[in-house]
Amino acid sequence: MMRTAFAMVYAAMIILLTVFVVIAHRTNKRNIVSNAVAWLDAALIPPILGNLLVLLSSSPTLSAVGFYFYFLGMDVVMLALTNFTVKYCDGGGKGQKVPKAAYVALGADVLQMMLNPIFHHAFTLEEILVEGRPYYRFIAHWGQTVHRVVDYSILVAIMAIFLMMSIKMPKVYREKYAIILLSMVVECVWQSFYIFSRTPIDRSMIGFGVFGILIFYFAIFYRPMRLLDNMLANMASDMPEALLFFDPNQRCIWANDPGKNLLNIQEGSFDHVPQKLREMFGDLELDRENWVRHKVIGSGENAKHYILDKHSISSDKNANSGSFLSIRDNTSDQLLIEREKYNATHDTLTGLYNREMLFRSIQKELKENKDTTYYIIFIDVKNFKIVNDIFSNSFGDFTLKHIAEWIRADMSSRCVYGRMGGDKFGVLMPKSEFDPDRVERTLSNYVVTDGNIEHSLFIHLGVYEVTEADTDVSVMFDRAHLALTTIKDEYKAHVAYYDDELREKAKWNQHISTQLQHAITRNQMVPYLQPIVDDSGKVVGAEALARWNHPDRGFLSPASFIPYFEKNGLIVEVDKHMWRSACEILSRWQQIDKEMFISVNISPKDFYFMDVKAEIHNLVEEFGIEPKRLRIEITETVMMNDIDERIKILNELRNEGFIVEMDDFGSGYSSLNMLKDIPVDVLKIDMKFLGSSQDSDKAQTILRNIISLSDDLGISSLTEGVETKDQYRMLSDMNCKMFQGYYFAKPMPVDQFETYVHKQAQ
Ligand code: C2E
Ligand code: CA
Ligand code: CA
Repeated sequence: MMRTAFAMVYAAMIILLTVFVVIAHRTNKRNIVSNAVAWLDAALIPPILGNLLVLLSSSPTLSAVGFYFYFLGMDVVMLALTNFTVKYCDGGGKGQKVPKAAYVALGADVLQMMLNPIFHHAFTLEEILVEGRPYYRFIAHWGQTVHRVVDYSILVAIMAIFLMMSIKMPKVYREKYAIILLSMVVECVWQSFYIFSRTPIDRSMIGFGVFGILIFYFAIFYRPMRLLDNMLANMASDMPEALLFFDPNQRCIWANDPGKNLLNIQEGSFDHVPQKLREMFGDLELDRENWVRHKVIGSGENAKHYILDKHSISSDKNANSGSFLSIRDNTSDQLLIEREKYNATHDTLTGLYNREMLFRSIQKELKENKDTTYYIIFIDVKNFKIVNDIFSNSFGDFTLKHIAEWIRADMSSRCVYGRMGGDKFGVLMPKSEFDPDRVERTLSNYVVTDGNIEHSLFIHLGVYEVTEADTDVSVMFDRAHLALTTIKDEYKAHVAYYDDELREKAKWNQHISTQLQHAITRNQMVPYLQPIVDDSGKVVGAEALARWNHPDRGFLSPASFIPYFEKNGLIVEVDKHMWRSACEILSRWQQIDKEMFISVNISPKDFYFMDVKAEIHNLVEEFGIEPKRLRIEITETVMMNDIDERIKILNELRNEGFIVEMDDFGSGYSSLNMLKDIPVDVLKIDMKFLGSSQDSDKAQTILRNIISLSDDLGISSLTEGVETKDQYRMLSDMNCKMFQGYYFAKPMPVDQFETYVHKQAQ
C-alpha cells in the first residue's frame, strides 16, 4: 500500500520535472540561469527513477540497477547543482566555469561506485519483507561513506556560497540567494530526517523532487518579479519627483517621500491626496489619464513652476490597472529660461526693451489694437557724446538710466517703450495719452544730477502718428526721427511732429536721390561762384556753391538737397562733380589770371566714401593746376571722428600746396583751442553766428580776438556773410584780410562771374 503510494508520488515527480525541464529549456533564450535549471531538474530524474525501480521491484538485480541509478544519479545531480550555482551567482554574466575540483571528486566517486559489482565495497543488498513482498534495501559500506562525503561536501560548499551571497549582496538581491538557500535547507532537513528515521523505504527522493520544484519556481519566476518590484519601489522612492500612484478608482495607494512632503501627508492617509492636489493646483481632471500640465503657484519672485504628468498603467490585457501622477518642480529651469529670454530682449543698462524687442512688441500691439490711434515717438538727447566726453562714461550711463526712468514713469500699460541704442529711445503711445504740454514742461528744464555733477540735457521728441499699422516699424521711427531733425538745433521747442510737409519732403528727397546721377551727367548740377575780395576790394577768388537747375522745379538752392545727400551719402557724387567743375574753370582761367583761386566744400561723408586726397590730387594733375588755386573748405564736423587720420590727410594736402580753410568757424562746439591741433591756413568766420553782431560790443570783442589770435597762429582770417559796408569797414579795422558776402556779390553763374571780375578790373 505504502509502496504504491510512494511509487505514485515518484512517478508524479518525474512527470512534473520533465515538464519543468521542457519549460526551463524554452525560456532558455531569455535567461542563462534557466538553462542550468533545466539541467538540474533533468539530473534529478535518474535518482528518482532509480528509487522508483527499487520500490517496485522484487528482484535483487533490478533493485541493484535502481540503486546504481540512484547513487550515480546523485553525482550527476551534484554536478548540475554546482553548474546551477555558478550560473546563478555569476553576477554580470562573466561566464564563470564549474571548478575542476568538483569534476575530479565526482568523477572519482562515479568510478569507485562502478567498481562496486566487483569489490562490493560501497553497498550490498539485503532482502526484507515490506507489505508481504520482498524489498531490497542497501547495507552501506565504506565506499558509500566516500560517496556521501563527496556529495555532502559539495552540497555544504554550495550552501556556504549561497549563505555568503545572501549576506554579502545589497539588500534587494539578498532575497534572491536566501530563497535558494532556504530550499536547500528544507531538502537537507528532509534528508536528515530520513537518514535518522531509518524507515525501510527510502523517501529522501521526495525531498529532491520538492527541491527541484522550488528551484524551478524561484530561479525562473519568483526571483525576477520580486527583484523588479524592489528595484522599482526603491527607484520611485529615490526619485526627486513627487510620485503618486492611483488605483483604477482614482484612490491614491502609494506616494514616495517627495510626494508626501509636497502634499504634506502622512503614510496611510493617502485618501486625502486628491483633495490636497486640488488645494494646491486647482482642478486637475484626476479622473482622466495621460496628460501633462504646467502649473504655476504663487507669483513674482516666489512663483513655483511644476510639471504634472499623469499616466495610466495598463496590464497585459489592456485593462486599466491604475495610474500614476508625477509632479516635477521645474522652477529653476524656468527661471533660467526666463533670465535668458529677458537678457535677449532687454537692454542691460536701463532694463528697457532692446531695439529688436521694442519693434516686435510695437508691431504686435498695433496689430492687436487696430482701433486705437497711436504715436510713434523718437527720443534723442542732443549732443549726448559731450556728456560722455566732458564728464565720464559712468555719468553718461547714469544719465541714460535717468532718462529711462523718466520714460518708464510716464507710461501706461498700453504703451510700449525701449532703448533703440545709444542715446535714442523709442515709444509707442496711444495718441490720447500724449500730453505735449507736460512733456514740454519737463523737457524745458531737464537736469540730471548724481549728487556731484549737475547737467542740463536737451531732449528732443519726434512724433509720428501711425496712419497705416502695417508700415514697417523702422520706417515709422525714421519718420519720427525726421520730424525730430527739424528741431534738432532748437533749444526752445522739444517736440516735433511728422506732418504733411515732412511727408512731402521725404517723398521729395526720395525723388531727387533717384535723379541725382542723371542731373550730374546732364549738367543740371552746376557751380555758382561767389566772389571773395581782399581788404582793397579786389576779387581774389571765389567759392564754388552747388546749384541744381532742375527741369521741373527750377533752380534749387543747396539747402533743399545738400543736407539730405549728406545724410544718405550721395553728397560724394555732388562734391566730386563740383571739384571737377572747379578744376575745369581754373584750367580755363590759366591764361587770364594765374592768381585767382576757387574754394570747394568737402563734407564729412566724403572722407568715409572716398580717398579725398587721391581724388583731389588726381584732379589737379589732370587739369594741370597749381594746388594753391584749389582751396579746400572743411568744417569742424570733419574733425569729429578719426581726428588723427584726418589731420594726417590735411597735412599731406597742405604739403602738396593746397590751402585748407576751416569753414563756418564758431558754429559748433570747437574752440580756438582746437586750432593749435588742426592744420588749417584760413579761418572762415561766418557773420551769421554772431547774430546782429555790429551792435554788440561783446560780439565785436570776440571777433577782434579771434582775428588777432588766428593772426598770431599764422592763420589768416576770412569773414563771410558780410552784408553791409559797416561790417566791411569794421572787419577791415580788425585786420581781417578777406571777405565774402552779399555786400560784394551773391553767388552767380560762372560766365556772369567772369564778366563781374572783368568789370571790376577796369
Ligand atoms: P557755406 O559753405 O557756408 O556757403 C556759404 C553760404 O552762405 C552760401 O549759401 C551762400 O550763398 C551764403 N551767403 C554768402 N554770402 C551771404 C550773405 O552775405 N548773407 C547770407 N545770409 N548768406 C550769404 P548756399 O549757396 O545756399 O550754400 C549753403 C550751404 O550748402 C553752404 O554753406 C555749404 O555748406 C553747402 N554747400 C553748397 N554747395 C556745396 C557743395 O558743392 N558741396 C558741399 N559739400 N556743400 C555745399
Ligand atoms: Ca563753404
Ligand atoms: Ca561757410
